[in-house]
Amino acid sequence: MYGTGLAKGLMLTLRHFVESYIDDLRYGFRKYHHSTDNFGIRQGTQTKGVITVQYPDEKVAVPERFRFVPILIVEDDDHPTRAGKDWCTSCGICAKVCPPQCIWIVRGSDPVTGRPVPDPEAFFIDIDICMNCGYCAEYCPFDAIKMDHDYELASYDRTTHHIHDKERLSKPNSYWRSIAPTRAYEEMLVRGTWEHKDAAKEARRGQSSSSAPSPQPAAQPAASTPRTTPAAESAADASASATAAPPAEGATPWSEDDAKREERRRKALERKARRAAKQG
Ligand code: SF4
Ligand code: SF4
Repeated sequence: MYGTGLAKGLMLTLRHFVESYIDDLRYGFRKYHHSTDNFGIRQGTQTKGVITVQYPDEKVAVPERFRFVPILIVEDDDHPTRAGKDWCTSCGICAKVCPPQCIWIVRGSDPVTGRPVPDPEAFFIDIDICMNCGYCAEYCPFDAIKMDHDYELASYDRTTHHIHDKERLSKPNSYWRSIAPTRAYEEMLVRGTWEHKDAAKEARRGQSSSSAPSPQPAAQPAASTPRTTPAAESAADASASATAAPPAEGATPWSEDDAKREERRRKALERKARRAAKQG
C-alpha cells in the first residue's frame, strides 16, 4: 500500500522521541552530568531513544574494525634488534591495488652498490583521495600497512597537511596492537610470530640475537577492552583463542618447531575459510 514506508518511518521517529524521555526518567539528571561514568550510561548499548554526543568534549569509542586513513607499522623504540625499523619492504603491492591510486612509494637503494633494498625511502598517501577502503592493508603481505582509528585530521592547509609522508604515517607496532588487539592476534596466528616475517627468519637462521627477550605479547582479545567486534565473529575468535594459545611470556615465538607453527597457520586459515563461507 502506498505510504506504508512513510508511516513506518514516522512511527520509528515517534518511538525514539518517546524512548528518549523514558530513558531520562530512568536515569534522571545523572545521564547529562559530564563524567566518564555517566557518559558510559548515555552511550551504552542499553540506552534508548535519541542521544546527542557533545563532540568534541565527548567522543564515542570506535569499533575495533573501524578504519580511517592508513598507517605504516614500525618497530617499537625498545625493540631489542630492530628499533624503529619499517615493516614495509617497499614491494609496491599496496600502491598497485589502491583503487584511487593515492599511494606513492620510493624504494630505497644501497648507497654503495646502488642496488635496490627492501626499505621504503619515501612513502606518501594523499588522504584527501584515500577512500578508506582498506585494500592496501588487506593485500600487504608483510602486515606493514594498517587502517588507523584517528579521524581528527582536519587542517587549514590541505595542500600540504593532507599528503601524509613516511614520518607522519609511521606508528609503532605497539600502537596497532593497542587499537586492534583482536586483529593483531589473528595476524600473529597466521604469521606464526608476533615479529615481522623477516625478523623471525633471521632469528631462525641465528643471524640476530636469539637470546634477546621477545616483546611482550599484546593483551588477549578475550581480556581486551569492550571495543566491539562483530558478534558473528566473536564465537570464532573465542575458539581461536582457546585452540591456539599465544607464546608464553618471554619466549621467542619462532623458537617453536615448524610443525607447531604450521599447525597454527592451518587452523587460522581454516577459520578464515569458515568465516568467508558464512559471509558468502
Ligand atoms: S604492500 Fe606492504 S610491504 Fe608492500 S609497499 Fe605496501 S606497505 Fe610496504
Ligand atoms: S585505504 Fe584504499 S584508497 Fe586508501 S590508500 Fe588504502 S587502498 Fe588506497
